[in-house]
Amino acid sequence: MKVVLKNLTKRFPSRDKNHPEDVIAVNNFDFTIEDGKLVGLLGPSGCGKSTTLNLISGLEKPTAGQIFFGEDDVTKLPPENRGIGLVFQNYALYPHLTVRQNILFPLQNLKGKDKMSKPDMEKAALEAAKLVQIDSLMARKPSELSGGQQQRVAIARALVKMPRVLLLDEPLSNLDARLRLQTREEIRRIQKETGITTIFVTHDQEEAMSICDELVVMKDGVIHQIGAPQSVYDDPKNLFVAMFLGTPQINVFDGVVKAGKLYIGEEAVLDVEGVRDGSVSVGIRPEGFKHDENGAFTLKLERIEVMGRDISVIAHHDKCRQADIRAIISSESNIDLGKGTVSFNLNPRKVFVFDDRTDERLF
Ligand code: ATP
Repeated sequence: MKVVLKNLTKRFPSRDKNHPEDVIAVNNFDFTIEDGKLVGLLGPSGCGKSTTLNLISGLEKPTAGQIFFGEDDVTKLPPENRGIGLVFQNYALYPHLTVRQNILFPLQNLKGKDKMSKPDMEKAALEAAKLVQIDSLMARKPSELSGGQQQRVAIARALVKMPRVLLLDEPLSNLDARLRLQTREEIRRIQKETGITTIFVTHDQEEAMSICDELVVMKDGVIHQIGAPQSVYDDPKNLFVAMFLGTPQINVFDGVVKAGKLYIGEEAVLDVEGVRDGSVSVGIRPEGFKHDENGAFTLKLERIEVMGRDISVIAHHDKCRQADIRAIISSESNIDLGKGTVSFNLNPRKVFVFDDRTDERLF
């Protein structure tokens, strides 16, 4: 099912006398999620991810704009008539019901033409349980399950009605690191198997990058960039997107462009033909440094950390905006620790130049 948001806006009235202006949680969102895709809404806390999801589910009403599922305008439909499956961070299973009864629950409330026979309901519940691999746990109560198993029950419950759209709001937040990893792979597998258009809310860029077909990167209710994870990483539109994606984080420097050359401090570190003269912000991905003792860019060496195949060089520079610079280079590089400095050439594909007032990308 294709999902289309048209000029969707949600304002909340301010309750703060000192800041009487409305909060614009979702500001004029205009994008299409293609049928069968897994799309991540990604951004820092308060950027409007949950509000967007709640508008799509019908739990919130938009201030303006429309939502379409395929050709259907669902903007005014209540949640129960939209054909959605919802999974939240705190999955709120019914504690007194077994896994089987929890999964059956949404089917028992179907009315009119959607009403199902008992055997059909049992069959659908078992199929959903099999999909998330909890069919052997049907007789247990939620308290007798691990966190990951509980989350799977919540997913099975959301899938049992075969929703047109599956909406997941930080579904992995309550799981420990190992389970998070495992469950996110599960979500990807289930999504691929069912082909249900899925919208996944997270503030964790690594999580979003690893399982989503497409990312919607947001901040303060505004969409900053939409695209496939790799293309957003390789081609960020602005400084915020460049800084939000990637671990270790991109290194950011104050730079100056003069006659087609990019200077950081005194050193001309890269040719940036076509960029206007003046002060800029420079982002260099950790993998953008190429060790070369005669390289153009010299940093104060702090220490190195060996990570197996690669080493992480931790360094300083007066023009860097972060406390530490991190460069990831091959472990075969010979770095002279006694020298106190380390020099690099830069891979131009891993260096981004931004306007220092608007943060928009220039190079
Ligand atoms: P988080 O990751 O912390 O859950 P989020 O990106 O999901 O954040 P939202 O919950 O969508 O963010 O909130 C977006 C903005 O709207 C925030 O500034 C929030 O304070 C505000 N907001 C959300 N719900 C309401 C409400 N019912 N009344 C007033 N303001 C609200």
